[in-house]
Amino acid sequence: MQLTAGLRKAASFRARETALVTPERSFTHGDVQDRIARFAAALRRLGVAPGDRVAILAANGAAYVESYFSVLWAGGVVVPVNSRFALPEMIEQIADAEPSLLISDAAFLDSAVQLAEACPSLRYVIADAPTSGLARVYAYEDLIANTPPCDDAGRGGEDLACLFYTGGTTGRSKGVMLSHRNLWVNAVVTAMAFGFDEHTVALHAGPLFHLGAGARVYTTSIMGGRHVVIPRFTPADVLEAISRHKVTVATFVPTMMGMILQSPDLDRYDLSSLKLITYGASPMPEPVLQECLRRFPNIRFGQSYGMTELSPVATILTPDDHLPSAPRHRLRSAGRPIVSAEVKIAGPDDRDLPHGEVGEILVRGPMVMMGYWRKPELTAQTLRGGWMHTGDSGSFDADGYLYISDRIKDMIISGGENVYSIEVENAISAHPEVMQCAVIGIPHPKWGETVHAVVVRKPGATLTADELIAFCRAVIADYKVPRSIDFRDDPLPLSSVNKVNKAALRAPYWDDKERRVN
Ligand code: ATP
Ligand code: MG
Repeated sequence: MQLTAGLRKAASFRARETALVTPERSFTHGDVQDRIARFAAALRRLGVAPGDRVAILAANGAAYVESYFSVLWAGGVVVPVNSRFALPEMIEQIADAEPSLLISDAAFLDSAVQLAEACPSLRYVIADAPTSGLARVYAYEDLIANTPPCDDAGRGGEDLACLFYTGGTTGRSKGVMLSHRNLWVNAVVTAMAFGFDEHTVALHAGPLFHLGAGARVYTTSIMGGRHVVIPRFTPADVLEAISRHKVTVATFVPTMMGMILQSPDLDRYDLSSLKLITYGASPMPEPVLQECLRRFPNIRFGQSYGMTELSPVATILTPDDHLPSAPRHRLRSAGRPIVSAEVKIAGPDDRDLPHGEVGEILVRGPMVMMGYWRKPELTAQTLRGGWMHTGDSGSFDADGYLYISDRIKDMIISGGENVYSIEVENAISAHPEVMQCAVIGIPHPKWGETVHAVVVRKPGATLTADELIAFCRAVIADYKVPRSIDFRDDPLPLSSVNKVNKAALRAPYWDDKERRVN
C-alpha cells in the first residue's frame, strides 16, 4: 500500500493524458511522474532520509500537489503547514514537527526564510519562485531540471506518510500521524463510494494544508484521475475553474456551498460537466443543502463525516441518499459507516449505548491514525480501548444512519437539558431572511447556560429577534429556543479552514477555561 502507486500506473499506461491543471499550467501523467522522481532525487541529495519530515508552506498549486508525492517518493513525511497562521503560530507548528526542509512559493517565501532562521531543524528552503542570492534557498524548477530522477524509496504500509494538523476549531491544532495504509484505505474506500475513476476531474478548492482537501488529492491520484488546483477559494474562481476545465467532482465545506449559492456569478457559468459535489468537515445546515438540491438538480451530492485522525472519512451519505426518492429525514444524517469503519456510540463511562441514544461517537478500523505526534498521553487517552474517541456526539437510527448531534465541547446544558447547537442552527437557518447563524451557550445564574444565537441576516432583511424566536418555537422544543439573539452585519468568524469559530463567539461571555466542558 503505497500512496505513490497510482502515479506509476497512470504514467505507464496513460502517459500523455492530462494529470494536473492550474490556471497557468498543465502537466501530463508522464510529466508529473518525471517531475516527482526528479524532485525526490533532489530532496535526497539535500539530505532527506527515510522518515524525515518535509514541510510545505504554500498556496494551492502544482508544486503543492507534486510535493504531496515527491516527499513520499524520496522516503520522507509530508507536513503541510497552516498557511493562514501568523508567523509565531507557524514557528510553533514547525518547532513541533521539526522538519528538515521547507517547500514554499512566491507568496510565502519571506515567511519561509524567517522560519528557517527561527527553527534550527530547517536546513533548506525550496521555493517555487525566483530565489537568487538567498542563502540555503533553492528554486523548485531548477532542482527538477537539473536532477536526474530516482526510484521510489519504497516506503508504504505502516510507514508514517504524513503529519497533518487538525483544524484547530476547539483549540490548538494537533499533529496527526497518518501512515500510507491509513490514507490508502481512505482513498480507496472514498473512491469506491463516490465513483472516482480515471475519468474523474477533481477540483481541489479547499486549502491543501488541511486533510479535508488533501485526502482528495490521494483519492484522485490512486484512481488515475486529473487534479484541478486553484490558488484560493472564491466562488467566482471555483465556478470559472469548473466550467473551463470541465471539472466532474468538487469538494466543499458547507460555508463554501453557502457562499457559492449567494454568488451573483452563479448563472454565468456552464457547470454541465459537474457530476458530483461532496461536502463535509462541519455541519451542513439542512436549508443550505435543500437549496443546493433545488438549484442543481443534475448534480449528485455526497457527504462525508470524519476528522483528521480518521484519514479523514468515517461515514458517508451517498449520492443515492440525496435523491428525491430517498427518505428526506436522512439529509440530516451523516450517512452510514464506510466499509472499512466500525462506528459505535458510547456513554460517558465508555459503555455501549443502544441505537437511538445520543453519546460519544467511537470509531475503529484501518484508517484510525497512528497517534498524535509527540503526544503519547493524548494518544492513549483518545485511542483507549482500541477505539478512536471522536469528541463528537451522535446517535444511530434503526437503519444504521448516523446523526451528528454536536461536538461534545459545543453542547449546551441548560437547566439540566442537553441542547445540541446544530439542531437549533437548523431551525434558525430555515428562516428565509437568515444568511448565516451559530448557536452557543452563554452563562446564566439559574440555568447554568442558556441558548444564544448569533445571526447574520440577508441584505435588506427586517427580521427581529422576537420574530425569529417565534419562528423557532414552532419547530423545536421550548428549552432549545434561543433566549437571546445577536444580529451581526459582518460574516461570522471562521477558522483557517472555514469552520465557524465558536470559541471566538463564546469568548466575550466566558472565561473559556472556566466553561464546563462535558
Ligand atoms: P480541532 O480538532 O483542532 O479542534 P477540528 O476538529 O475542526 O479541529 P478536523 O479534523 O478538521 O479538525 O475536523 C473534524 C471535526 O469536524 C469532527 O470531529 C466534527 O466535529 C466535524 N465534522 C466533520 N465532518 C462533519 C460532518 N459531515 N458533519 C458535522 N460535523 C463534521
Ligand atoms: Mg478535532
